[in-house]
Amino acid sequence: MFKSKLALCGGKPIRKKPFPPHNTIIDDAEAKEIMEVLKSGNLSGFSAVSGERFFGGPKVRKLESDFCRYFKCKYAVSFNSGTSALHGAIAAIGTGPGDEVITSAYTMSASASCILMQNAIPVFADINPDTFTIEPKSVRERITKRTKAILAVNLFGHPAELDELKRIAKENNLVLIEDDAQSPGAFYKNRLAGTIGEIGIFSLNYHKTIQTGEGGIAVTNNQLFADRLKLVRNHGEAIAFHKARKDSINILGWNYRMTELQAAVGIPQLKKLKFFNEIRQELAGVLTNKLKPFDFLTLPVVRDYCTHVYYLYTMKYKKEKIGIDRKTFVMALRSEGFPVEEGYIRPLYLQPIYQHRVAYGHKGCPFLCSLYKGKICYRKGLCPVTERMYEKEVITTRICRYPNKNKDILDFARAVEKIFDNIGELKSFSKRNKRNG
Ligand SMILES: *Cc1c(COP(=O)(O)O)cnc(C)c1O
Repeated sequence: MFKSKLALCGGKPIRKKPFPPHNTIIDDAEAKEIMEVLKSGNLSGFSAVSGERFFGGPKVRKLESDFCRYFKCKYAVSFNSGTSALHGAIAAIGTGPGDEVITSAYTMSASASCILMQNAIPVFADINPDTFTIEPKSVRERITKRTKAILAVNLFGHPAELDELKRIAKENNLVLIEDDAQSPGAFYKNRLAGTIGEIGIFSLNYHKTIQTGEGGIAVTNNQLFADRLKLVRNHGEAIAFHKARKDSINILGWNYRMTELQAAVGIPQLKKLKFFNEIRQELAGVLTNKLKPFDFLTLPVVRDYCTHVYYLYTMKYKKEKIGIDRKTFVMALRSEGFPVEEGYIRPLYLQPIYQHRVAYGHKGCPFLCSLYKGKICYRKGLCPVTERMYEKEVITTRICRYPNKNKDILDFARAVEKIFDNIGELKSFSKRNKRNG
C-alpha cells in the first residue's frame, strides 16, 4: 500500500531519470560498414540508367539479399522509407485512378496516404478490439467492384488475421499487401509476418525496431511485382525503353533510392532484430505479469498462433472499473515519470485530408475524380471500434524495449499501483481541476 503522495498532486515521482530516446544499438559493426562505404567514396550506387547501377550499390544489394534470407522470400527491394516502399507496393500491383484499396482505420497515416499517392481511394475498415488489427468481417463489407487490394497492417507488433484476409483476397481477386513496419520478426502460424501477403513492407525509420535513420524494404515472391517495385524506386519511365516493356503501367518513377550509408547500417541492424525482439518480449512478459491484478487494465492479447513483438505495449483502460477518466490516469502516470500515450492515432478518416477531400489541389482529386465511380464515406461513426479505442480505451507505452531493464518495468508497475492506492486523491484532484476549468 502506497502512502506517498501522487506526483501529479505534488508528491515525489517514482521515476526521476528520463527514459532514453534510443531503442537501438549502434556499435562497431555499423561503424565498420559505414567506414567501408566512406572510404570507397561510393555513397550511392544508383543511377537511373539501364545496367548494373539501376539496381543500386553493393551495400544496398547485400542488405536486400540478407532480407531475402531472413524473410525467406525471393525478392527484397530497398527504399528510402517505409512510406515509399508502401507507395511502391501499391503501384507495383497496378493500382490507379478509380480503384479502391481497403486499409485499417487505426494505423500510421502512410498506410493510407500510399493509396492516395497512386490516385486511388482509401477505404477504411474497422479493427478487432483485442488485437487492434483490421477486422476481416469489416473488410468483407467494404469490398466493391472497384476494390483492388487489401492493405493489412500488423499493428503494435501483432500480426493481423492474415490467412482469413488472404482467403477474402483470393475469393475476390484482390491482392493482399502487408504493412509490417511495426512487426518485423513476428510470427503468424510459424510464418514470418510480412511474407504472407503478396507484398510485405518494412520500415527502417529511427523509431522502428531496427533502423537506418530512414529506410524501407518491400519483400515479395512475385517477379512482376519485384520488377515494378524497382522501376518505381528509380525513375522507371527513363529506362523502360531499354527494357522493351509492353506493360508500362505504373512504372512512372520517383527517386526512392536508399544510399549506401543507410544500407551499410541496415546490414548489422538486421542481425540484431531477433535480439531486440527477445528483449521486447521478455520485458512485456514482466509487465503483463505485474499488471494482471489491476482489472481496470486489459493487457495485450496474443493469439495462440501468433507471436507479438511489442513495437508498442498496448493496454485498454476500463474507466468504469476505476472511476477516473483516462486522461487523468495518463497524466498521473506521466507525472510519475513514465512515457505513456492515450488513444494512439486518430482514426484516419477523421483527419482533415479525408474530411475535406483535398489530397491534390482544390477540386477534390482523387475523391471526386471522374474516373472514380464510387461514393466514398468518411463520416464519424464509420468504424465504431476504432473510434472507441481512440477516444476511450487505448493506452500505449514504449518502455518494453532495449535498453530498458526489468527494473524499469517494475517501476512502471509500481507507479500504476501507487495511482491505484491513491485513487481518492486523484479523484479529488480531477474534480478540482474540472471546477477550475
Ligand atoms: C512507421 C510506419 C510506416 C512508415 O514508415 P516510414 O519509414 O516512417 O516511412 C508505415 N506504416 C506503419 C504502420 C508505421 O508504423
